[in-house]
Amino acid sequence: MTNDATTTRAALDFDGLRPPSPWLTDAHREWRDRVRSFVVEEVEPHLDSWDAAGTFPDALYRTAARRGMLGVGFPVELGGHTPAADPWYRMLFAEELHRPGSGVVFADLATHWIALPPVVQFGSRELQESIARPVLAGERKMAFAVTEPGGGSDAGALQTQAQRRGDAWIVNGSKTLISGALRADDILTAVRTGGPGASGISLLLVDASSPGIERQVVAGLRWYNSSIGTIEFHDVLVPLDRLIGPQDRGFAALARQFNVERLSGIAATLAMSRTAVAEAIGWAQRREAFGRKLVEHQALRHKLVDLVRAIRASYAFLDQCVWRLQRGETVVADIAMLKVQATRTLERCAREAMHVLGGRAYAGPTRVERIYREARIFALGGGTEEVLDDLAARQLGLL
Ligand SMILES: Cc1cc2nc3c(=O)[nH]c(=O)nc-3n(C[C@H](O)[C@H](O)[C@H](O)COP(=O)(O)OP(=O)(O)OC[C@H]3O[C@@H](n4cnc5c(N)ncnc54)[C@H](O)[C@@H]3O)c2cc1C
Repeated sequence: MTNDATTTRAALDFDGLRPPSPWLTDAHREWRDRVRSFVVEEVEPHLDSWDAAGTFPDALYRTAARRGMLGVGFPVELGGHTPAADPWYRMLFAEELHRPGSGVVFADLATHWIALPPVVQFGSRELQESIARPVLAGERKMAFAVTEPGGGSDAGALQTQAQRRGDAWIVNGSKTLISGALRADDILTAVRTGGPGASGISLLLVDASSPGIERQVVAGLRWYNSSIGTIEFHDVLVPLDRLIGPQDRGFAALARQFNVERLSGIAATLAMSRTAVAEAIGWAQRREAFGRKLVEHQALRHKLVDLVRAIRASYAFLDQCVWRLQRGETVVADIAMLKVQATRTLERCAREAMHVLGGRAYAGPTRVERIYREARIFALGGGTEEVLDDLAARQLGLL
């Protein structure tokens, strides 16, 4: 693995395309190696068949937990490990999970990163034991349901209603495009308990086996994953102690989770960009056209340099963001801007890598083809470009 401190001319492979970072320590590198071993042994050999089948086995959750993969950033007393305040651990996990060129395993395995923290922060002792601990042990699975058929960007306008009746909440409404919806045992659900707008939203932890819940797969996505779905709530009864956090003030917790999602999205997209570009470079160095290697054609090698430049610039921005985050600064605008920069970098790298590979990109399962297929989703999850640019504009004081 690359030694960040001494590399001067790195190989142009996945590791070499990540520029050295002044902030990564030996402990981070050890963690990265552990995650890589997990991916090499438990994920990578199966990706093509999981892609074809549109799913992966539930057993992977327990395997991941046994190998110490699920607890990253959660309290030790609940089965977690690695300092929660150090975002690098999760980012390195996201990088390594995306190295083989698919985000789908990560999307389900790490859903608890956004669904579980409010439960850990606000949930009763009983919920810590009955939900948090089994989730970190790979025995229960979670989903985080915000988006509705009426829209996802304007989360403050969500319509799913929860009305208090006696000693329970009664939930009615529907959610869509929810990652892990079909597998989840528990769904952290954003509901309207108060008036219109962001100040009337609460979070409820809903048992997915409750009467009145109907779940259906969202068909048509070629983002392989048969567990992404729509959830209908028909008079679903939720006990009062499943209100997570203060009533009507759940939006702040939602917003915090969006930042976690954005940081992992940035790590994911830049990792996939490296994989795509490494494959394109390798191919350009081997393949010949018109009597020369592809890389000996100036137009093509300039294209490759352009991609390496975009990756390096994004990592420099990322290093700066995480460093400021760790100093306790509020970097909402920067994370929003970087998320857009990173997803645009991925879309460009995916397109150009497909281009360099020519027809070969379509011949059988290739990592670049899968990256190209999956790249678009990253521009939606955690906020679309327009939503993030508006957020940045407000935070920067443009408005
Ligand atoms: C594979 C996948 C997994 C997902 N997983 C989850 C999940 O686990 N949980 C969950 O809650 N959601 C999930 N989502 C939903 C995702 O968060 C939404 O798709 C996203 O928030 C955008 O919402 P929307 O699709 O309703 O688009 P809309 O909100 O309808 O937006 C449509 C277009 O209009 C643009 N737009 C919106 N507002 C403005 C504005 N003010 N100015 C200019 N342009 C604007 C948007 O940028 C976008 O281009 C997932 C989506 C996908 C595809």
